[in-house]
Amino acid sequence: MSIQINSQTLHKTVIRNNYCSGCGVCTATAQSPFKMELTKNGQYIPVVNANMHSDTKTVCPFASNQPDETQIAKKLYKNAGSRFHPEFGYYKNIYAGYVRNGNYRIQGSSGGSVTWLTDQLLKDNMVDYVINVAEQNSPEIRFKYQIQENINNNTNGSKSKYYPVNLEEVLAYIKQHNGRYALVGLPCFVKGIRLLQQTEPVFAERILFNISIFCGHLKSTHYLSLLIAQFSVDENEVIHFDFRYKLPGHKASDYGTKIITTSGKKLVKPNKELFGTNWGWGLFKLKACDYCDDIIGETADISFGDAWIPEYEDDYKGTNIIVTRHSVLENLIQKHMTNGDLHYEKISTGKLIQSQAGGFRHRREGLAYRLYLQQKKGGFVPEKRVKPLKIKSKKRRKIYKIRMQLQEKSFYSEHYKNIPALKKELLPLIRKLEKVYEHSAWTKFRLKLKKWLKKK
Ligand SMILES: Cc1cc2nc3c(=O)[nH]c(=O)nc-3n(C[C@H](O)[C@H](O)[C@H](O)COP(=O)(O)OP(=O)(O)OC[C@H]3O[C@@H](n4cnc5c(N)ncnc54)[C@H](O)[C@@H]3O)c2cc1C
Ligand code: SF4
Ligand code: SF4
Repeated sequence: MSIQINSQTLHKTVIRNNYCSGCGVCTATAQSPFKMELTKNGQYIPVVNANMHSDTKTVCPFASNQPDETQIAKKLYKNAGSRFHPEFGYYKNIYAGYVRNGNYRIQGSSGGSVTWLTDQLLKDNMVDYVINVAEQNSPEIRFKYQIQENINNNTNGSKSKYYPVNLEEVLAYIKQHNGRYALVGLPCFVKGIRLLQQTEPVFAERILFNISIFCGHLKSTHYLSLLIAQFSVDENEVIHFDFRYKLPGHKASDYGTKIITTSGKKLVKPNKELFGTNWGWGLFKLKACDYCDDIIGETADISFGDAWIPEYEDDYKGTNIIVTRHSVLENLIQKHMTNGDLHYEKISTGKLIQSQAGGFRHRREGLAYRLYLQQKKGGFVPEKRVKPLKIKSKKRRKIYKIRMQLQEKSFYSEHYKNIPALKKELLPLIRKLEKVYEHSAWTKFRLKLKKWLKKK
């Protein structure tokens, strides 16, 4: 097993077959031949520089024959007194909660914990810089990784951006600038950083904390265009975009989209009214996300997600699920629970799984089936902890197949700004998917009724 991969092999396998999430980590190794580019399909991919040497090596979270998430996390956390769960790996404690002080919660996606933590690391002089994703004032690139040293600006980095970003620029900066960094990333980005830290010591010395957010899937830039098109404003006039606007009186999961235009118009629409926001359809999803088996960021020092379970969902202000692994961060959290800054309570492993039930199903059973289908087709198939399998349930097989078709059709559609044309293209598949669900619900009801009648 090797951590590095030959860049030509990476190009022929992961990149050419579109199993790339666009993280940009492969650009950061010494003499990397790659640089990141935004494609016309609205995703980042590495392209080969003119100066490519055929034998240069790099790292990639999707490359085969390398340590997987469990092995990486084992090395980091097994001896740090962590526990292990077969579904989501190593952990110290699992909490649900939110930030009590400041505006973190209301300005955050969920309980505001990620931005609180990164601010706290700066306040306590535990790091010099925080690397997170912030809004840009450009219609071409709406969101981008930034390097921040000032806690007052940090709220600019809060909120979930369902929009592609990559680490190329910030990793180049870290390489050139000494300092202590904390980095916020999606699970595959953090896995990429972990591999990089094992091959390029400068990143291990400088990135002291890797913080992950849970991840269902990432979208292409066309998803944002699709949402803006439903506000009937010119995309170039939008100066602020919020994917996660909290709607008072609604469930936390029932949020809205907010935009601000150059003329100062503030427009909000509940996501339920916006076509394409159903996460289960997976419109404009990156293909790589269908071949990823890390839902919570197993290789990170701490991970944060949404507590979308009945006991927390009713509070529209949002509640996080927090999974700790690094003892320094665990201690920091406990200190601020005691002083009242954080309203956290311990929850069971079962609650964590319940909160991400759809994600686990799609990326365990669903992934096994997708891998089986790809294997049958032939060619390169990424190596995963989940093994290829023709799952038993005919219904679930249908669901996963239709979802794959929806991903592909939407991703390459040219109608992402033209709602009627896009609907015409996608609705037949969406209806097919909904029909399978209806059948499942009807079968469940019939079985329940049968059981009830038997009891009588
Ligand atoms: C693409 C995506 C998919 C997600 N899927 C799930 C899911 O399936 N289940 C779940 O429970 N939670 C998911 N989340 C995480 C969830 O939306 C919240 O980000 C998380 O609960 C933290 O909330 P918070 O209030 O503590 O964060 P905040 O305080 O609002 O901070 C959010 C942090 O995330 C960073 N960030 C935002 N977008 C990105 C991005 N694209 N790439 C890297 N960093 C980013 C910000 O810079 C900031 O540091 C997803 C987030 C994203 C971006
Ligand atoms: S997933 Fe990341 S590291 Fe792998 S090829 Fe794509 S950009 Fe490079
Ligand atoms: S689903 Fe997996 S591959 Fe896709 S962005 Fe999230 S962590 Fe990366």
